[in-house]
Amino acid sequence: MSKVAVITGATRGIGKAIALNLAKQGYDIAINYRSENDDLETIKKEINEIGRRIFTYKCDVSDFENSENFVKGVIEEFGEIDVLVNNAGITKDGLLMRMKKEDFESVVDVNLVGTFNITRNVIPYMIKAKKGKIVNISSVVGISGNAGQTNYSASKAGIIGFTKSLAKEVASRNITVNAIAPGFIQTQMTDVLKDEVKEEILKQIPLKRFGKAEDVANVVKFLVSEESSYITGQVINIDGGMLM
Ligand code: NAD
Repeated sequence: MSKVAVITGATRGIGKAIALNLAKQGYDIAINYRSENDDLETIKKEINEIGRRIFTYKCDVSDFENSENFVKGVIEEFGEIDVLVNNAGITKDGLLMRMKKEDFESVVDVNLVGTFNITRNVIPYMIKAKKGKIVNISSVVGISGNAGQTNYSASKAGIIGFTKSLAKEVASRNITVNAIAPGFIQTQMTDVLKDEVKEEILKQIPLKRFGKAEDVANVVKFLVSEESSYITGQVINIDGGMLM
């Protein structure tokens, strides 16, 4: 029987690479989308070509009820959830001096509260099944901090505390909870940065290249596999050595 993986924010970027990788490992895939403009057709086609099923649902993870209905939809469609990857995230950068309250709140609401909203609705099914793997996508700036990202860094640091606390709560139920802290990964989120900024970041990366979405997906693959069954409550950096 195939297993089921829920990945948020997987219509593009890192989430999409994770969805394709897990489909190749034999998982049926459930993803949310945000708007009718999201490119759902490509990912549906690619997952089906791998030979797996895909369930899609319009969901804003910052909305608890919407998240609850998404998770209910996955259960109706597939009957179980083996893997959850909380990947949906946004940035609204700016110095604190000028940051609007809405820009602080919306980033925390999507990145951190969104992780709670989805996990809170998935965890009862994993506890009942006495198994599960949860991977939360944090960021190196959640560990190191970054000027211009008080909102984003706070949300990503919050994800680390959330991950460790939940790992302790559910370890006895055979559920592992880990976080990944990517450095600079080439996606539409980082494409918007100016070339000068990118060059400065590159100088701080010992491996002398930016990361690919697949670099993150490969570690997710490991963290949801049996090979990592003794790892929980950890934060794994994927950053070319940027933060040591
Ligand atoms: P991206 O902007 O390409 O993708 C983000 C995804 O999240 C999209 O599919 C988007 O639709 C979805 N999303 C946004 N708001 C949402 C909401 N309210 N509800 C549901 N879905 C929503 O970004 P990415 O680079 O692929 O980033 C994926 C994750 O990795 C994010 O959590 C990001 O913070 C984290 N991350 C990225 C980098 C990087 O360098 N790209 C570094 C560290 C961490």
